[in-house]
Amino acid sequence: MSHRTLAGKSALVTGSTSGIGLGIAKSLASQGANIILNGFGDYHLAKNELEAFGVQVHYHGADMSKIAEIEAMMQFAADTSAGVDILINNAGIQHVASVENFPVERWDAIIAINLSSAFHTSRLALPHMKQKNWGRIINIASVHGLVGSAQKSAYVAAKHGIVGLTKVIALENATSGVTCNAICPGWVLTPLVQKQVDAKAQELQLSNEQATKLLLGEKEPSMAFTTPQELGELAVFLCSEAGNNVRGVAWNMDGGWTAQ
Ligand code: NAD
Repeated sequence: MSHRTLAGKSALVTGSTSGIGLGIAKSLASQGANIILNGFGDYHLAKNELEAFGVQVHYHGADMSKIAEIEAMMQFAADTSAGVDILINNAGIQHVASVENFPVERWDAIIAINLSSAFHTSRLALPHMKQKNWGRIINIASVHGLVGSAQKSAYVAAKHGIVGLTKVIALENATSGVTCNAICPGWVLTPLVQKQVDAKAQELQLSNEQATKLLLGEKEPSMAFTTPQELGELAVFLCSEAGNNVRGVAWNMDGGWTAQ
């Protein structure tokens, strides 16, 4: 087997039972990283697919809105995988409503899962990374970490917040081998986005194809979804030696969304 750049590293990917998290886990596993999966979906299929790369795969079902469960997951990572070398903060949810109609409980859940969980996993992963003088923290933000959209107050606030957190962690560790960066995807066709396509189709009485075109046309000049595989390859680059001095960036892969 050819040289695999991440052989022997352990990677925790939150929210990796589907979508972007699973895509990133596959790319990291293809480079030899052992994986700790997390998320609420069925993890058995993902585990089998990842094990085909000849890596170890563990699963922990921590709810990323609960601090005690995050702490238990990080302890699990220490016990099973000798700590987390690569931390991908990816778990996220969405809710669409105007500010005055936004359910308070949804606001709290989005801030907890999309933002605060990354603070908790990072604070618990950093001592191990610093001790090894090597580590990668990659926060899956969004174009909504850079620009706003109506009806997405909690999501936009959380994603802008995680871009800020990324910069601070990068600066605090700038003279070490630990880097922290954010990836900012535009539209990626995952269950999170399919729900928004379905809502548009229902509201405007459109077919799935028409609603998809409308969704892309509103924001994404390329008229094409970014794929989990493309995001996974960017994560592999950020984990590589070539990424040693990439620090505190928010790197969009958005079909031109934020170039407008
Ligand atoms: P997804 O719904 O396919 O995946 C989300 C994952 O998070 C799932 O594994 C789910 O089980 C998990 N999850 C949800 N709540 C959780 C909780 N409380 N605890 C633990 N796990 C939980 O969505 P996705 O599109 O793959 O989103 C992944 C990340 O990418 C999110 O942070 C999202 O904001 C971000 N993102 C997505 C898009 C897109 O277009 N899909 C664009 C930009 C950013």
